[in-house]
Formats: sequence, C-alpha cells, structure tokens
Amino acid sequence: MSLIRDGIPASPGIVIGPAYVLRWALPRVPHINVAPEQVAAEVVRFHEARDWARRRILEIQAETAERLGPVEAQIFEPQLLMVDDPDLVEGTVSYIEENHLSASRAFELRILEYQSEWSRSGHPMVMDRLNDLVDVELRILNRMAGQPDPDYNLGNAAEQVILVARDLTPTITVQLDPARILGIATDGGTRTSHSAILARSLNLPAVVSLTDLSELVQSGDEMVLDGRTGRVVVGPSEREKQSYREHDVKVREWEQELVLLAHLEAVTPDRQQVQLRANIDLPSEAEHARANGAQGVGLYRTEFLVVGRAAPPEEEEQYRAYRRVAEAFPHQAVFIRTFDLGGDKFPLFLHMPQEENPFLGWRGIRVTLDTPDLFRMQLRALLRATAHGDVRIMLPMVNEIREILTTRGLLEEEAAKLESAGIAFNPSYKLGVMIETPAAALIAADLAPHADFFSVGTNDLVQYTLAVDRGNARLAPLYTPFHPAIVRLIAGVAEAGRAAGIEVSVCGEAAAHPLGVFMLLGLGITAFSVGTASLPEIKKVIRSVPATEARLVVEEALELGTPDAVTETLTRGLAQWLDLSLFAGRWNLSLIE
Ligand code: PEP
Ligand code: MG
Repeated sequence: MSLIRDGIPASPGIVIGPAYVLRWALPRVPHINVAPEQVAAEVVRFHEARDWARRRILEIQAETAERLGPVEAQIFEPQLLMVDDPDLVEGTVSYIEENHLSASRAFELRILEYQSEWSRSGHPMVMDRLNDLVDVELRILNRMAGQPDPDYNLGNAAEQVILVARDLTPTITVQLDPARILGIATDGGTRTSHSAILARSLNLPAVVSLTDLSELVQSGDEMVLDGRTGRVVVGPSEREKQSYREHDVKVREWEQELVLLAHLEAVTPDRQQVQLRANIDLPSEAEHARANGAQGVGLYRTEFLVVGRAAPPEEEEQYRAYRRVAEAFPHQAVFIRTFDLGGDKFPLFLHMPQEENPFLGWRGIRVTLDTPDLFRMQLRALLRATAHGDVRIMLPMVNEIREILTTRGLLEEEAAKLESAGIAFNPSYKLGVMIETPAAALIAADLAPHADFFSVGTNDLVQYTLAVDRGNARLAPLYTPFHPAIVRLIAGVAEAGRAAGIEVSVCGEAAAHPLGVFMLLGLGITAFSVGTASLPEIKKVIRSVPATEARLVVEEALELGTPDAVTETLTRGLAQWLDLSLFAGRWNLSLIE
C-alpha cells in the first residue's frame, strides 16, 4: 500500500525516484558558566564567530549570485542583517557579561527568545525568517564549537534522489548539488520560503509543508513527487507510477504550448482585447516580465526598496529604480504603488509600533500620509520617473476621498518645486487607487471622480471582507475570492469604473487564478496584473474563453449565495473551454488519482 501525503506545491514538475533523507541538527550546547576572568574572552569569541559568519554568508551570497543570479543572492540579505542586529548582539553580550554564560549558550538563549517571539506571530512571512535565523545560528554555533561549516552531501550513491528533510535552510539549499537531486520534499516551509524560491530557480520540483514526511520515509524508499499538485506518494504501485508518467507527458506538452504564447496577443476568441501586465517586487524583474510577454507592469510593490533597511532610500536611488521599470516598457503603462508599509512589512528605520492587529493598523496610505518627508521624497522620485514612460502612481489601502485629495495636494506641491528647479516630469501624470478594503469597494462610485484608475487588490479585499487573515494556513479553505460577497463587491467596482470612464484592473492573486480571471472577465474587467510566472497560463485562459460566454456564466454566479456554488458554476463554465486537470492541485480544481 502506498502512503500519500499532501503538502503545499512549491515548484512544479513530476519526478519518481528513491528518497534520500537528509538529517541535520543544531549542535548541542551545554549550559556552561564561565569564570569572571574568562568573560572578556568569551565576548571576543562571540564577535570572532560573527565576523567569520558574515564573511561566509558574503562568500555564499557571491557564489549564489554567480550560479543562480542576483535576485536569488538577495535571499542572504536578512542573514547579513541578523548577524549585526543590535538586539541579538547586545542581548548575547549581556548574557555573557551579566550571567557569565559561555558565548555559545548565551547566543543560543538569545536566539530562542527571538524564535519564540517570531513564532507567536504565526505569519508565513515572519515564519520564513525563522529559517534564516536557524541558518545564522547553525553557522555561529558551529564556529564557536570549532566545527567547520557543514558539508551537505547526499551520500555516495551516484543515482539521483528525491531529497526529504525536516526543513532546509537557504545555505543547505544552495550548497546541494542540483545534478544529484530530482526533487525536494520538506516537512516545513511555505511557498515563499527561501528554499522554495531557490528550488524554483533551480527548476527542481518541490513540495513543502508535508508535516511529518521525513519521519515516515527511509532513504532508498521509492517516491513520486508532484510539485504541481503538492502530492507525495511513498511506495507507489506500478499503476500509480504509470498514471503520473502519463500526466507528466500531458503537462509537458501543455507547458511547451504556454511558452509559445508569450508573444501572442492577450485577446479572447471573440476579440475582446485584454491588458495583461505583470506584478513585480524588484526593478530587475521588469525586463524578465517583458520577456515573458507582459504588456506593462500593473503593480510594482515599492516597499521592497525599504523593507529591512536601516535608512530610507534616497530620492535618487528611488528615481533610478522607478525609471528602470518605466524604461523596460517604453510604450506601455507601469503602475508604481507608493510604499505599502505596516501589516507584515516593516522597515527598520520607521520604528513601527507594536500593534495588536497590524493588518488593521498603521498601514499603507495611513503610514505615508503620517510621514510626509518620506512620502514627498517618493512622490518626487515618481514624478521624475513620469518623464521616462507611462508611469501611473497608485495608492494602497485607500478608504476615503480625503486620502486621494491630500496625496494630490502633495503631488502638486512637489510638481511645482520640480518645475521651478527645471527638472523634467510629465505634468499630466495619473494618480489612482487600489480597491482593497470593503469600504473602498462600496464607495467606488464616490472615489471614481477623484481617481484616474482603480486597481482591485483582491488579496486584501478578500481578507478584510471575509475577516480571514490572508496568511493563516488554518483558515486557508475559508479564504476565497469566490465568496458571493467578493464577487458582488468587485462587480460594483467594475460598474463604478465603467460609469466614470476609468480603467479598472485587478492585481491581486485572484487574477492569477484560472477561475478568478474567468470570473473577472465575466464581470467586464479587461485589465489584469499577475506574477510573471502566471502570465502564460492566464494568457491561455484569456485566449480560450469568449468574453460573452464568461459574462453569461458570471451573471448566473452573481445570483448564487455560497462560495461552493459560485466555485462550481465557474468551474463548470471554464471546463467547457479548457482541460482543467492541467491546472490540477495548484488551484485545487481537482486532484489526479
Ligand atoms: C492585494 O492586496 O491584492 C495586493 C495586490 O497588494 P498586496 O498583496 O501587496 O497587499
Ligand atoms: Mg494589498
């Protein structure tokens, strides 16, 4: 009998092969008190280990940049910050000096305190940082114990293996020999954990969050790993293996077809033109998005310029970043969002308050309006970027007309200053808003006369409308854009935009979901922005479904009262035009058996 485990699909592809269970552990640190005269030497030992760790991280970062690219190398940035984090360093030193603990024990205790504080948040983005902390801990403790940096080899056998581990730190992942690995399965992790990101860069199928798989599997056990559905089968039957092989062939053909779509138009079979743009987090992604057929950038999340930084980026640095994105799309629109700080994104320099409910707290436009120096600097950089393309300025978390008017006032003042200084910008710049709270959706008709465009952020709109935390895995089944409340809210926003003659686009994940984009097309929305990886699949949906047919199905869905009924109706409607098994699992449409 085979054993089946379902986790989170983290990197696509189906592989069949023997497991190799990689077991690694933090060194054991005994509780040792040191004599008072040894205290100073222990402090020196700790700093020496930190200095060494910093050098090693920089070396590994440089190797990663060379092997995988600069974006992947940035994965080590949080670790560099941690090594020098004043709280971590001073806390450890004070445990050594005041409690006369050995450097290793003092450091371990301080790390434990961090871990318990961060674990309480339960948020995936914070949980992902725990893995970085373990990486730093492993390296510094090993150094203080006189151990070399561990060498993660995969046994001596020459055959390729499916790597199974409790978790993988970024260091372990980049050091593994990809030629020896067929795929990766981990007990922990999320789609955004660094090891998942690296697996995608290495083109290795991966499934994460498999809870206790590493305890159930022995090295050598045969396994199937399906990185599209998130399923792992240990000890598969011949029939199961055959069915996976056949599905794999079908998926590969489909993927080849998707690659060819990159430079075809985003147009429905009944000739409805669609704008299909890309969501990006870093300016360097813009060129990649263009190469993958994006018609502009629908959402550039600029907060990644500031998160984790000790000082805000200067106007010049921001201007260069925004200009790079604009220049990547000389003839198409790029929507650059002003800093959406707060929630789960904290820059070090802002000293964000401790809040009970950060997602209901000081976030987005509330933060930037309260920090006018920071906001004005960004607005100036954005205005200057309008001289290099169709740059549209987009505000996050807007709830009221006042927020748009105040921002417009600031923009006008900064524009006047640029003008008198003779600095170029486009005086007919566009300012629009994200619709991502139920309040904004409900008053869309009132906001519309003050905005040049709307962009619906379904990630937050779903979270705030349904009162379901977007990052809470336990609530994941309740977190759906197909709840009738969401469908009706978006229908209202689309209608308000049409009436006011402004573009309504959708840049939340719902647009990157085959059923979601089908629903949005049916609501009359014809501009979408999705992650670069989703562009081909979403273009395929657009090119497969007549907009008039989508409209008929969605008219029916708008009458329904439950998320299940909406999902079923949309699924039935889309299945007339596409083989949904090709999207299997990733979107929970169906699972192959
Ligand atoms: C959204 O909320 O849908 C959105 C696109 O913004 P973010 O995911 O950055 O909050
Ligand atoms: Mg949002």
